[in-house]
This record gives sequence, C-alpha cells and structure tokens, in this order.
Amino acid sequence: TASWSSVPLAPPDSIFKLSAAYKADDYPQKVNLGVGAYRDDNNKPWVLPVVKKATGLLLNDPSLDHEYLPITGLPEFTSAAAKLILGAESAAIREGRTVSVQTISGTGANHLGALFLSRFYNWNGPKQIYLSDPTWANHYAIFKNVGIEPINYPYYDAKTIGLNFNGFLSSLDSAPEGSVFLLHACAHNPTGVDPTSEQWEKLADAIMKRNHFAFFDCAYQGFASGDLDRDASAVRYFEQRGVPMLVCQSFAKNAGLYGERVGCLHVVGATKDAADRVKSQLSVLQRSEISNPPSHGARLVSLILTDASLFEEWKRDIQTMAQRIISMRKELHRLLTEELHTPGNWDHIVNQIGMFSFTGINPAQCEELVKGAHVYLTGNGRISMAGLNTHNIRYFAESLDKVVR
Ligand code: PMP
Repeated sequence: TASWSSVPLAPPDSIFKLSAAYKADDYPQKVNLGVGAYRDDNNKPWVLPVVKKATGLLLNDPSLDHEYLPITGLPEFTSAAAKLILGAESAAIREGRTVSVQTISGTGANHLGALFLSRFYNWNGPKQIYLSDPTWANHYAIFKNVGIEPINYPYYDAKTIGLNFNGFLSSLDSAPEGSVFLLHACAHNPTGVDPTSEQWEKLADAIMKRNHFAFFDCAYQGFASGDLDRDASAVRYFEQRGVPMLVCQSFAKNAGLYGERVGCLHVVGATKDAADRVKSQLSVLQRSEISNPPSHGARLVSLILTDASLFEEWKRDIQTMAQRIISMRKELHRLLTEELHTPGNWDHIVNQIGMFSFTGINPAQCEELVKGAHVYLTGNGRISMAGLNTHNIRYFAESLDKVVR
C-alpha cells in the first residue's frame, strides 16, 4: 500500500557514508582519502581561477537569459567538447559522423549511453556489458537500471598491483562476437592502473577482430598526466582505427565543476546518416528524462573551450592539480621506502596515475586505518591522492607503515 512501510531499506552509498563519518570525527589529525574530489594543499576545495574568470564574464553578459537550452544541449559546448576528447583533427567530426549530447555530468552520460544501447544496440544474445574488475561501483547500478547485466573482465592483478593484461586480452578474445566492453579512457578508477599505448594497440586489435563495441568512460581527461591530449590518446587512437564506440565525458574533475553537472555523450557513427538517426533517438530519450540539460556549467565550459586565452589558462590550472597529485605520489613513495623502510614494494604508488591509487592493503588493514588512525578510505584499499597534502602526508605514511608491519 501507499504507506510505504514495506519498502526495503537500502544501504547508504558507501563513499558518501565514509564522508559523513569523516565529517563527524573531531580528531584533529583526521585524513579523508575516500571521496574523489580535488583538494588543495590546505585540504580545501579548489575553484579553478579560470572558472572564476569565466563566471565573471558570464555574470556581466547582459544578453544571457534563463531560457531552455535545446534538448541535446548548448551547441557551442557540445561541439567544443567533442573536439576536446576526439581531437580537432578527428575524421569522425570532420565527416559529421559524431553525435554529441549534453548530459548530467559523467554519470548522466553513462546513463544515456547505457539506455541508448539497451534500446538500439544490435544485441546478438542477452544484454550484457563487460566491466573491468574492479570498476567505479556506480557502473553496476547504471547498467542494471536499464536492463543490461554487468559482467566482469579481468583487469587488476593483485600480485603485481598492476594490469592483468593477458587476462584482459583473453576475455576480449573469448567474449561473444559483438560484445560491449566498458573502457576507462585514462586514470582508471579505482586502481590508477592504465594500459600502455602498446597495450591499447593490442586491445584495439582484439576488439576489431571480434566486432566488439567500446563504451569509453572518460571522467579524468587532464588529471592523469596533466596533458589533455595525452589523456585522450586511447580514445583518439580507437577512433582512428574505426572501432565502433561512444564516449562519456565529465567536466566534474578537470574543471572542478562537480556540482554543476557538466558532461557530454559522444556517439561515433559509421556515416552522417547513421549519426543523424542516433541523434534523433537520443533526443527522444533525453526529452522523457530531463527535457533540457542545465545551462550554467555548460556556458562556463563552452567559454573556456572556445576562448584561446581562457583555454591556455585552464591547461595551467589542470597542470596545477595534476602536478600536486604527482608530487604527493612521489613524496609518499619516498617516505615509505627511504624514511620508514616500510615492508613491501611501493613502486605502484608512483607507477599508478590519476586521482586514485590502489595501495594493495587488505580490508582489515583499511579498517585499522579508519578506526585506529582516523584515516578514512574505502575497504578495497583505494586512496584519493588529492586528500594528501604537505601537512598530513607524513602522518598518513606513518599510519600506513604501522598497519602493514
Ligand atoms: N566515471 C567514473 C569512472 C568516475 O570515477 C566518475 C566520478 N566519480 C564518473 C564517471 C562520473 O562523475 P560525475 O557524474 O560527477 O561526472
């Protein structure tokens, strides 16, 4: 009945639960390594200077109103976003074979992409998506929501704390022809382990051979290496090879626009006619779900992407964030190996890339860190490097040292 008393109680989201526990803790040296949001060296959220500048420009623009955007989003934004990820030289863009639809950040792009596949992909058998083991936990929920069953492909090798490349390749070889594989474009969440460019080439070979579909999720362009082009190289390479694909793009991390929900879904078609058909159906789906995407964040990103001097400034801001993260990796590695002589090999800390690092510690050690040291991290041993800074890194290294001894 409508008293809702028999609605099953769902567990709280584990990441946001962790953040709440951190907030409630009044221990002065507490450290939050759970949530994946950038923090500056004083553990404060960072509004990118270029975003402040763009906001000022928007607020002073008397021609702006609050009308609805088109269903598929702000055209200047979606076309600039496509060039950012696929490259200005992309053949697919030049030939009018891409469809770009503005979405509710990366989550919305994943959802719309999943919904579109669920309705229109040429499924040979059951609707299934291959997800890396492990992956961003929300991928499971997003695909299940639209009736696509998630299955895992091997990705992370606990022994080497690196990539299980052979396992990955052999699942591409043995999956039914025309399977859908979700690929993290760069800065794999949660492991920080990415394929090398040689490995991407072999993965593309295997995908082409078996007619698979590449569902790229790109939430961290610029965050991995500090270079927007380098971080887009796998996506661009796949496009050049003609791999059937779509790309989910988020501006949450690289523009620090978490709450503005700026994202885009790009689908690459074989012909302009195919792309037009895809666009017509994406519009129908988008209409019933959100009607029109939000304007403010898209206007900000559009300004930054289309103004040459703002774009240069954005690249510097991205460098600031990426370099701080890289310097924290180096310092953590140095503390563990050279100062504390912590047992084990810690090279993965500097070999991994992006916001997250898989430390390789077990769930009991994670719990000990949370309970004993007030260091908050998820039970899989993932830490957000952005939660470390020059003030807390020694405390963290010492706490980690204690739990692995
Ligand atoms: N995909 C991956 C792999 C992510 O890590 C994230 C952010 N945690 C997202 C998508 C989407 O984030 P958002 O919706 O904030 O853009």
